Amino acid sequence: MRLHPVRRLRYLAVDMLPAGARTRYDEEYRADLSTLSGWRAVRYACSVLVGAPGLRRALLEADPSLAYHRPVRCHLGWHDDVAVHGNREDQRVVHDECRRCGRIKDGKEYLARSNNDEVAWVGAHWQC
Ligand SMILES: [Zn+2]
Repeated sequence: MRLHPVRRLRYLAVDMLPAGARTRYDEEYRADLSTLSGWRAVRYACSVLVGAPGLRRALLEADPSLAYHRPVRCHLGWHDDVAVHGNREDQRVVHDECRRCGRIKDGKEYLARSNNDEVAWVGAHWQC
């Protein structure tokens, strides 16, 4: 399968950016390119590619953590979760936290179907 040249240029530009910024800029470039066609799209994609090294430098100077790569196993969804009691006031509240990447997954006790009285009350309060 051959990629469209504009899409290939976009991918090359996005690959030069820090891992933590790729999704955001890929969406921005894709949105910009959706409004352009023909040579205008090619010119824009070329300018994005030429500007990618400078953008990479600027992004990393502003936030070095953007260079962080998520471990492969976490990228595949195989996290190394441990249960953490994050709420000091209510030790029943537990969330899972990955030891490798730091991903936090809320426990099921939040907004449980059997205990959703407070959610309904908040909804009623906002209607007043
Ligand atoms: Zn993980």
